[in-house]
Amino acid sequence: MTAEPIESLKFLTPDDVREVAQCFGTPVFVYDEQTIEAGVRTISSLPSAFGLTVRYSLKACPSAAIVCLFDRLGLCFDASSVWEVHRAVRAGIDPARILLTAQQAVFDDGLLALLDAGLQFDAGSVRQLEDYGRARPGGDVSIRLNPGFGSGLVRRLTSGGPESSFGIWHEAIHDVERALESHGLRLVRVHTHVGSGHDPGVLVRAAAAAIELARRFATVQTVNLGGGYRVKALLADPEPDHAGWAAMVAGEMGRFAVETGRELALELEPGTYLMANAGSIVTKILDVTTTGSAGHTFLKIDGGLTEILRPSYYGAPHPLVTVAAQAEPEPRPAERYCVAGHCCIAGDVLTTAVADVERLAPVALGRAGAGDYLVVERGGAYCSSMAMRNFNSYPDAAEVLRRRDGSFHLIRARQTLDQIVANERVPADLRSVSTESSHYLA
Ligand SMILES: *Cc1c(COP(=O)(O)O)cnc(C)c1O
Repeated sequence: MTAEPIESLKFLTPDDVREVAQCFGTPVFVYDEQTIEAGVRTISSLPSAFGLTVRYSLKACPSAAIVCLFDRLGLCFDASSVWEVHRAVRAGIDPARILLTAQQAVFDDGLLALLDAGLQFDAGSVRQLEDYGRARPGGDVSIRLNPGFGSGLVRRLTSGGPESSFGIWHEAIHDVERALESHGLRLVRVHTHVGSGHDPGVLVRAAAAAIELARRFATVQTVNLGGGYRVKALLADPEPDHAGWAAMVAGEMGRFAVETGRELALELEPGTYLMANAGSIVTKILDVTTTGSAGHTFLKIDGGLTEILRPSYYGAPHPLVTVAAQAEPEPRPAERYCVAGHCCIAGDVLTTAVADVERLAPVALGRAGAGDYLVVERGGAYCSSMAMRNFNSYPDAAEVLRRRDGSFHLIRARQTLDQIVANERVPADLRSVSTESSHYLA
């Protein structure tokens, strides 16, 4: 057997897993209000020099009930596209509480109406800054700075440095000055987001770069450090020390205030930090197959790329936990398994090696078979929102919120076949051909 630790459930109990599966079907996303609230409390109480605003990063999980919950908890929002802004506004969010930082920003009527309603804009390139200036001369604006370095859990989660297209390159600040001047813009915020799951030391360096830029622009009132704050997901993960870097950033801002007389406000935009461990994906095990003595034992589940892309896209590890179909007095012994998703594509595997999607890495799980459940933990961020939609024509799974009193509420119904095909149109002549051929085959 193996000494490898067996992961355990985060917020659901085995009875909860069975109840949720029976009430809502599988696969299903379950989010936990209590975990979300605890995350908001912890990050909101990080040390800061002159005030802290927390913006929930909508792309982590943009489901309306989740967005409303964060709104109720007093957070502001980070949006990554104008669509995300529209969606949040439709959920009831005041546009003035949203900062848009997008790769695609087209100043059409939709975006202009949102800006009129108070949406704040963060220019991710000099061109975006120019376009904004032409659309809203004399307005307030932010810029996203690429400080020349970044850091992420894996390379593809790094959004700063020469291999990242995000933000305004740190050597292009003359262009920023020119654009601000020619449109009479007021730079009120410097923003950076150097990656997801970054090294705290790199974050502090990014903060220092942003503060240094604030020195050059006397109108800057706020430094926004983006998101990327790590969570402890696996048993083997260290407990991240967020108070440590926050205190260092507060120290930098304190020194800046002494030198300049200016008190900069701090903004953070966590997505992962608030949602990752607040969501679990409950799936059912459909089958067990083996590939011989040199191979693996595979658990095949009724979810996969259509619910969670991260293991096959990044080699991101997620804690996996098996739950028996019926309550049992004793835990089952451990076995080593690979877990395969339900999509007919070889890459639909949840047990990839960390940061190496070409390699399988079996994990120790409680022995399980068809009819038992498999829970994918750390399933609240970038799972539902970043899944491989409708591949193999599987519907979007349902989403459920566990309220504080322990009750489960459907917050998104499972998609129907009608909804999957709703926008398809078949030209009339093709329609008759297919009718004829099916007649012929019959
Ligand atoms: C994605 C993103 C975030 C959130 O990142 P996490 O890793 O989920 O915390 C914050 N800010 C910006 C600009 C982003 O693009």
